Amino acid sequence: MKDMSDTSLTEIPARHGKAVRVAKGRKLKLINTYGTQVVDTWAFNANDLHEFMSMEHTRPHIGSTGRIIPKVGDILRNNKRQPILTFLEDTSPGIHDTIIAACDRYRYKFLNYQGYHDNCQDNLFAGMAELGLTPPEVPQPLNMWMNNPVDKDGNVGWFAPVSKPGDYVLLRAEMDVVMAFSACPQDILPVNGVGCKPVSAQFQVI
Ligand SMILES: [Zn+2]
Repeated sequence: MKDMSDTSLTEIPARHGKAVRVAKGRKLKLINTYGTQVVDTWAFNANDLHEFMSMEHTRPHIGSTGRIIPKVGDILRNNKRQPILTFLEDTSPGIHDTIIAACDRYRYKFLNYQGYHDNCQDNLFAGMAELGLTPPEVPQPLNMWMNNPVDKDGNVGWFAPVSKPGDYVLLRAEMDVVMAFSACPQDILPVNGVGCKPVSAQFQVI
């Protein structure tokens, strides 16, 4: 188990999940090492996993009338609308996604993939299992660097990330949390770059 005082870099291996405890007031730096990788990001109240960061509860409260992409200064809320994280820094162009569910085995069946495909849903469970935890459900993730814009007609695009190697976001825990990450294994759509090649990412608790 990763100690909360450990500020070293941890790799989120390509196509896999990782989780870490972050105490209230500490910060989590999530790094897009190669610039092309989407990282599905979750946060759970460490004292009650049924309380978790909720994109649908956050969207109405950010911006003046609500927004679908959080940005620096925004408070991310849990499913009781309490602050769980604050978005402190973002060196990327700020393109992230809050509307697309974590990929799962069923998603890859829709994409005509035969057999088992790594997926963010299973990565959430695997990452949390390393800490001895089981999430009670799979909340809508904050899909860091995922580029799925919604146009004026409501259509969703599927594009490669616009982030650069080494871009990072910095998030502050507003309660004791367990954060989980999946380096998305999507290699059929260009979610993780036009080369459709999932790679690793990194995080650091500071
Ligand atoms: Zn995924």
